[in-house]
Amino acid sequence: MSSENIHITKKLRNVFGFETFRQNQKEIVEAILAGQDVFAVMPTGGGKSLCYQLPALLLDGTCVVVSPLISLMKDQVDSARSLGIAADYINSSLAAHTRNDVLNRFKKGKLDLLYLAPERLAVKDFISLLEEVPLSFIAIDEAHCISEWGHDFRPDYLILSSLKKQLPSVPLAAFTATATQTVQNDIIKRLQLKNPLLVRASFNRPNLFYRVLPRNRVMKQIENCIMQHEGEAGIVYRLSRADVEKTALYLQERGIKALPYHAGLPSQRRFQNQEAFNRDTVQVIVATVAFGMGIDKSNIRFVIHGDLPKNMEGYYQETGRAGRDGEPAHCLLLYNRGDMMRLGNFIDQMEKQEEQTVAWKKLTQMGDFGEIATCRRKQLLSYFGEIYPEDNCGACDVCAQGVEKVEATTEAQMLMSAMYRTGQRFGASHIIDIVAGARTKRITELGHDKIKTHGVGSHHNKPYWRRLIDALLAADCLKATGSPYPILQLTPKGDDVLFGRSSFSFLQIIHTKEEQTKQQLPTDYNTELFAILKKVRLTLAQQEDVPPFVIFSDKSLHEMCRFFPTQPNAMLAIHGVGQAKLARYGEPFLIEITTFLENNPEYRQTGAPLPTTSQPETDTTAGQTVHESGKLAEQGLSLAEIAEKRDLKETTIAGHLEKFLAQGSNVNIDVLIGVEKRKLLEEKFSELGTDFLKPVVDALKGKVSYNEARVIRGYILGSKEARPCSDSPCPS
Ligand code: ADP
Ligand code: ZN
Repeated sequence: MSSENIHITKKLRNVFGFETFRQNQKEIVEAILAGQDVFAVMPTGGGKSLCYQLPALLLDGTCVVVSPLISLMKDQVDSARSLGIAADYINSSLAAHTRNDVLNRFKKGKLDLLYLAPERLAVKDFISLLEEVPLSFIAIDEAHCISEWGHDFRPDYLILSSLKKQLPSVPLAAFTATATQTVQNDIIKRLQLKNPLLVRASFNRPNLFYRVLPRNRVMKQIENCIMQHEGEAGIVYRLSRADVEKTALYLQERGIKALPYHAGLPSQRRFQNQEAFNRDTVQVIVATVAFGMGIDKSNIRFVIHGDLPKNMEGYYQETGRAGRDGEPAHCLLLYNRGDMMRLGNFIDQMEKQEEQTVAWKKLTQMGDFGEIATCRRKQLLSYFGEIYPEDNCGACDVCAQGVEKVEATTEAQMLMSAMYRTGQRFGASHIIDIVAGARTKRITELGHDKIKTHGVGSHHNKPYWRRLIDALLAADCLKATGSPYPILQLTPKGDDVLFGRSSFSFLQIIHTKEEQTKQQLPTDYNTELFAILKKVRLTLAQQEDVPPFVIFSDKSLHEMCRFFPTQPNAMLAIHGVGQAKLARYGEPFLIEITTFLENNPEYRQTGAPLPTTSQPETDTTAGQTVHESGKLAEQGLSLAEIAEKRDLKETTIAGHLEKFLAQGSNVNIDVLIGVEKRKLLEEKFSELGTDFLKPVVDALKGKVSYNEARVIRGYILGSKEARPCSDSPCPS
């Protein structure tokens, strides 16, 4: 390891209390340290703050952080200070004399970090002040706000366009959790980033469990879900303000500490309710989508949607507020098809036809998510252009119920031929009626009982056909176009199945227990001690007037209740405990743990060993399986051979190899993929970027497969990783 690397890793441990970097953090930190501009899309909870806080500590000068979330600044500053970072903020909420105080400290170079709202930069002379004070770099949070293409454009952000011109020598690092390719390009252009390091992290949130249940008794269903999260914080989203109020009242009447939040409440009340939730004095906040932007709480353990969200972006963001600390959390969507109509009414009132069309399309995709019984995680990620490589994600209702692959080529052909013979002009239910042999009025009127496929599939029930259509849609063999009553059409992939050129099988849920809501999550920590430590945390938080998660995250407390540290050194091995936090908060926790062990000596022996060596955050079994496939590739086996040998799908193996290669490996890529294809793909990836596979595969029109593209992408990323070694001696 180079001395620079050792330095960074030390800071990571000693200041932040983390063993390893998360995906992408290291390369971002290194780029910033090297003075390069950065543009990074990382999901909520992905660990963006560390990406600028760590270099801010290491570099000379102050790092200015621009953020629109005024309500968050205090917490962010408290949180940075609790780590021992010299941080402060300036925004309109500060009294003039405090503001001057902060400015003075800034001018004297006493700050590592200074948080600002964008409008501050518009204040006369402020930018010239920035020219005078030595800056390490400028970090721009929520960078999508600068783009009119994004979903949260803020005119205030436009002022940032002039930063590069006015402060040409100060590197810029822009971060956001949501940016499509178009928005990304727009942000880079507007900020005038110079040859930035581009990072797009995976949007997968492995610790979130997704579940969809048909909505029947909404209040009771919400209550049941909350009851399974006793003492844990959660958000309930409702569509209308009236439903927010009603639900909050219903829960209060049942002894659950819940408060409402919506834009109709006076701002003072809103603030109070949010703070009560933030500080763990109420368990549940019932809210419209107005709630969330200003919330940084890391220990939200569940998010319930009582109504269908308008689109997948919203759903992803709202559910994304759960489990920021990386500990397991639940997302429950109560789905009722009627919501489509309700939301559709709003859409129909939109003025522009274009907006209507887009909104309908997004709503339909959201409805599909509720309805289509394939892996929820796969669906969510594919919405963001990402392909989830595993067959079974293990953390959504569809995958967890147990699924098995069922051959269905003949059945798929039955459906498709019914579509074909009726001119591809009908929706799913009509096609199902034909195949199942129904004699509805419409069928007889149209003479569809006379066609050859009428009734050929009467050996299966309608739900079977519905699921098959869902699976064909998800596999891109069919497409549904038009709204609100989409019609089914064949795609080229569908043609292949219909004409027997390829087969089709799909995942079927083995046992459906619709009402099963209890999710068995192993609690591998001592819950009794956890309750005690939570109280200690709450007391400290109240004394310091900060939210409890600023003291220690749930994840830190869970580890304390698993490893029972009683000495400062052992405490330092706990996730999230660095030198500053140990000195400031460690003692009362050490005392409680010692007392607990005195009363429960049996845990002295059973306490699991402390995580002393650096453990990468990746799931070890996932790591192993990747490694196993990688080793076979190193031995010269082809994708198909590895798939056969391991009894896994080729796509799964391709996913493994992508990861394996991205870490640098000895695989002979030209044996695996072939020189010609490698060259073609390298060229296209360098032209179109490595974020998405589809454009690259499409551009090479049938010359390469997705699997091959995926493997080469890993290879390219892996050789990038390795590049610095060619200039300097490799660390051994
Ligand atoms: P974001 O701003 O991207 O939503 P945060 O910066 O708030 O995410 O980080 C989310 C959580 O992840 C925080 O609780 C943080 O302490 C934790 N975290 C960040 N980096 C790491 C890491 N390298 N290892 C472990 N936990 C981390
Ligand atoms: Zn799944």
